[in-house]
Amino acid sequence: MTEGTGKEKGCIFCQILAGDLPCYRIYEDELSLAILDVNPFSIGHCLVIPKRHVPWWHELSDDENASLFRAAKVVAEKMMIALEPDFVCMYARGRRIPHTHVFLVPTYSGDVLDRFFNALELFQESPPVLAALREKDSMEDVAELLREADPKKSSKSKDDSVEC
Ligand SMILES: [Zn+2]
Repeated sequence: MTEGTGKEKGCIFCQILAGDLPCYRIYEDELSLAILDVNPFSIGHCLVIPKRHVPWWHELSDDENASLFRAAKVVAEKMMIALEPDFVCMYARGRRIPHTHVFLVPTYSGDVLDRFFNALELFQESPPVLAALREKDSMEDVAELLREADPKKSSKSKDDSVEC
């Protein structure tokens, strides 16, 4: 399994690949390994890692890249069969553990990651909405609305009965 190249001391994934740490193996080929994430976002959450210590996914060789994404697809297909999620979310970041790992997360409507990404998309779409609020016409309109709003004339005001 370990080719003896590109291992990094202190890297948790290299230690797993060397057999020094346990893991739940799901699938592997010559260049990649898929394991369960020990801190799952949802049931069956997996990580697919290259067998060589490569910090960033865009530094993988073409063969490693092909292997990693082929393995990711195989595992996603397994998830769809075994766990029946709506779909399998895939992403790669790597800030915390600098050994390429692709997240594969079975996603169900309303689960933690689903809500996170929905919130992220709302945030992503917000700037034009917020920018529109800063436009002169919008500012003048809302300023006028606020100035004209008279709490004393509001039906919710406690003073209404007194004044009538
Ligand atoms: Zn590593």
